[in-house]
Amino acid sequence: MAISYEDIVKVPKALLHDHLDGGLRPATIVELAAEAGHELPATDPEALGRWFAEAANSGSLERYLETFAHTVAVMQTAPALRRVARECALDLAADGVVYAEVRFAPEQHLEQNLTLDEVVDAVVTGFREGSALAAEAGNPIRVGTLLTAMRHAARSQEIAELAVRHRDTGVVGFDIAGAEAGFPPTRHLDAFEYLQRENFHFTIHAGEAFGLPSIWQAIQWCGADRLGHGVRIVDDITPGNPPVLGRLAAYVRDKRIPLELCPSSNVQTGAAASIADHPIGLLRDLRFRVTVNTDNRLMSGTSMSREMALLVDAFGYGWKELQWFTINAMKSAFIPFDERLKIIDEVIKPAYAKLIG
Ligand SMILES: [Zn+2]
Repeated sequence: MAISYEDIVKVPKALLHDHLDGGLRPATIVELAAEAGHELPATDPEALGRWFAEAANSGSLERYLETFAHTVAVMQTAPALRRVARECALDLAADGVVYAEVRFAPEQHLEQNLTLDEVVDAVVTGFREGSALAAEAGNPIRVGTLLTAMRHAARSQEIAELAVRHRDTGVVGFDIAGAEAGFPPTRHLDAFEYLQRENFHFTIHAGEAFGLPSIWQAIQWCGADRLGHGVRIVDDITPGNPPVLGRLAAYVRDKRIPLELCPSSNVQTGAAASIADHPIGLLRDLRFRVTVNTDNRLMSGTSMSREMALLVDAFGYGWKELQWFTINAMKSAFIPFDERLKIIDEVIKPAYAKLIG
């Protein structure tokens, strides 16, 4: 029996790679832009939503980045950040996401003179409020915050310290993001070494558009717990029957290093030609630690349920595979082991057991 999108919404899902500034509601952008006096390409929420999707689909990196200029511009005050985070938690919960790690770059929200700590406080408070409202509505969700440093900038050590400072109030990990080419993760070694000394978790955007050297550095030089995307690991796999793994691909699989794959986003950025051609099919068959993610819900016009529905259509996946992706994500989360296990045993497995039989 075919699995419908509506069925997928109802099952618990776990999400590890979602950007706060890539998931705003168009109507919220319109309201916040009016308050901030920021000019938008369209002021009707529906038209604005279309503009975001079109710019993201244009194939032009310039236009794609312009979309973030607008979302970041309306996220410069504590109330705005808090609202965006609250709505993010509510939207994910309504989509059936029971655990999410949402990331954002505090250094991009300082234009109205907030301090880095005030920025983090506002976002964490918003997630807490949104989670409480979602629980009241019958959709419990837990949201962990990841702090991102921009790889072209020089603030990674400062952001790493910020993340550790807020580790007991909702920040569960660290990340670096931004253009890969020309900005290797090894530029930020000090930050990664500091985080390791602090027993803290981090993921690195690597192997999205750029290839294997970026993945190798992220793991073997920086010590990343997970790979943001990591989709180009397929370049180290020689097709055949069976396919042959190179040393790096073998290492990633042997060590169960989680791949935060984002199917729609990977297609939009050209990292995969189409969903059907996405390496997720091969990587799942080879039992890499594959997880499914949204990346930027607004720009990709997507949700966690939609990403899974696309995979069901393209690869014929059933509930077993969807449960496998979900448990993989939960196993790879940055919250403590016992808390991960509790969500797997008490929330995820019972729900899927009813469907798998
Ligand atoms: Zn990303």
